[in-house]
Amino acid sequence: MPSTLDPRTVPTSVKAPHGARIFEITWADRKSYKLPHRILRGYCPCAGCQGHGSGIHFIDAGDPELRNIAQVGNYALEFGWGDAHTTGIYTFTYLRKLCDLYAQHGDALPEKVPDLGEV
Ligand SMILES: [Zn+2]
Repeated sequence: MPSTLDPRTVPTSVKAPHGARIFEITWADRKSYKLPHRILRGYCPCAGCQGHGSGIHFIDAGDPELRNIAQVGNYALEFGWGDAHTTGIYTFTYLRKLCDLYAQHGDALPEKVPDLGEV
């Protein structure tokens, strides 16, 4: 996991303010991002959401509540959603990519970037 030493892929704080429908994350390079739950949930990289095709596609799962955030080892976060989906593991590298793409495209991200490539 060489990327874990890259400050762009080391989170220093994560927040999910209750009721805000926004996930906030700050990285070791001091950049902060806010991702709507709809975007974060919609780009869930797990096999259950994505099937076995290549690339990560937006699957509109609405705007569920973010109930739980757990760190997985030193490389990923796992999110537990109000729609009972708890198997999505987002590597830091993937999460940062999603942050940068959302910062660039905003709510139009799913239309602008239909395929995010590999995790
Ligand atoms: Zn999933």
